[in-house]
Amino acid sequence: MIIDGKALASELEAETKERVGELVALGRRPGLATIIVGENPASAMYVRIKHSACDRVGIRSENVNLHEDAGIEEIIETIRGLNEREDVNGILLQLPLPGNRDSAPAMAAIDPAKDVDGFHPVNMGSLLAGAERLVPCTPKGIVWALERLGVSLEGRETVIVGHSNVVGKPLAAMMLNRNATVSVCHVFTRNLAAHTRNAEVLVVAAGVPGLIKRDMVKPGAYVFDVGINRVEGKTVGDVEFDEVLKVAAAVTPVPGGVGPLTVSMLMSQTATATEMQEQINNR
Ligand code: NAD
Repeated sequence: MIIDGKALASELEAETKERVGELVALGRRPGLATIIVGENPASAMYVRIKHSACDRVGIRSENVNLHEDAGIEEIIETIRGLNEREDVNGILLQLPLPGNRDSAPAMAAIDPAKDVDGFHPVNMGSLLAGAERLVPCTPKGIVWALERLGVSLEGRETVIVGHSNVVGKPLAAMMLNRNATVSVCHVFTRNLAAHTRNAEVLVVAAGVPGLIKRDMVKPGAYVFDVGINRVEGKTVGDVEFDEVLKVAAAVTPVPGGVGPLTVSMLMSQTATATEMQEQINNR
């Protein structure tokens, strides 16, 4: 089976649209502010996709474009201004920063209650402690999709390839929170195939086209391909899709798999952030 990420994302969007409608009825239309530093065309494209999703579900959106040379102080000042604004419920700093500058100080400046990407240390810590509030959208989208597909994670052998802060690490925490047995592989893992062959659920987020081949996948596995790579003008994932589809129970395509789920989850989390802020205001 091909896991239709677009169809699942539409379901999630429809649910979010209803929640947004309820917030609007209370006079609390959710607002998302994005920040782009510099002129990275890929960042601009991702932000456009996020703003279109906002329009579809009824979230107000705005973008702040800072100059390529903006220092970390200027980025933090911008974030502080957005933290103060009542009509901004979610703040998203689009990564990477130009020159691959360290984004951690900027991430830490975002009000944890508005951290819709879930990268703030407080939210990461809560996730690790088993209390998931605002969490990274890509892993949350994968966990949501598994639940929607009726695949319970309890006791399930899951293998994650990639240990980044954006995908692999938070996903490992989410899967442990659901009592899966979790292995996390990365570039230093000695025998990758020996691990992936055990996986009932395999999530690949390495950014290496063709990394996962048919003989590395357990028959009947659920495979989520997070990778986004450009090869000869085409967008491909990390999994040899056509071959792996022959043995797996289900595989996400690239494009049209994990990507749309991530965007929909961002909408859902912006609604969640607004709901949480509303509850705090009413206390
Ligand atoms: P990253 O570069 O921060 O991390 C890559 C991870 O893969 C590291 O843990 C590294 O050790 C591991 N790795 C690299 N080569 C490997 C190999 N040969 N064998 C085993 N492990 C290897 O990347 P990231 O930010 O986590 O993103 C990973 C991929 O997912 C990229 O292609 C990125 O574009 C994509 N991505 C997609 C979405 C989405 O919404 N679909 C979201 C985030 C990232």
